[in-house]
Amino acid sequence: MKAVRIHEYGGPEVLKYEDIEVPVQQPDEVLIRVKACALNHLDLWIRQGLPRVKSLPHILGSDISGEVVEAGSLCWRVKPGQRVLLAPGVSCRQCEWCVSGQDNQCQKYTLFGSGVAGGNREYMTAPEYTVIPIPESLGFEEAAAAPGRGRAGGPPLPGQCAAESRSIRRSFGSVRAGGGATARHA
Ligand SMILES: [Zn+2]
Repeated sequence: MKAVRIHEYGGPEVLKYEDIEVPVQQPDEVLIRVKACALNHLDLWIRQGLPRVKSLPHILGSDISGEVVEAGSLCWRVKPGQRVLLAPGVSCRQCEWCVSGQDNQCQKYTLFGSGVAGGNREYMTAPEYTVIPIPESLGFEEAAAAPGRGRAGGPPLPGQCAAESRSIRRSFGSVRAGGGATARHA
């Protein structure tokens, strides 16, 4: 499958369009065919090494929508073929904060595209608890733009966003400009 990865920190030129293996989901995970991934300012910071990620190469992209391809044996809420978006937060689901619903306080809390690989790829795995079904009336691009609206705060820097969008558009096709930009996968 195709993915956009970074092997080093820097400007848009470090985004590399590459072939990588399709991931295999764990029993509590879902395999998603990514249909759209919004550009969040987080992508720009991490691409520049602020903060640095655990290891390179790394896949950016925190705000993701797509279709369920396969669901692991322990998944019960979603099924193949469903249109979904991903809540970007990933946490331990076991600590006091997670159990009380304040998972963003969890010591292991992170986001797709930050502490774990993100959505700038054709297929990705995600814990089932991050998967949110979306209605037919909501397009994949609109759905991918939704998670960041509830989290990010400020708009992206237009110049940086445009450069990044051009680079991602070359790889994946259409890009919508707005509060952020959304790349739609083929
Ligand atoms: Zn936790």
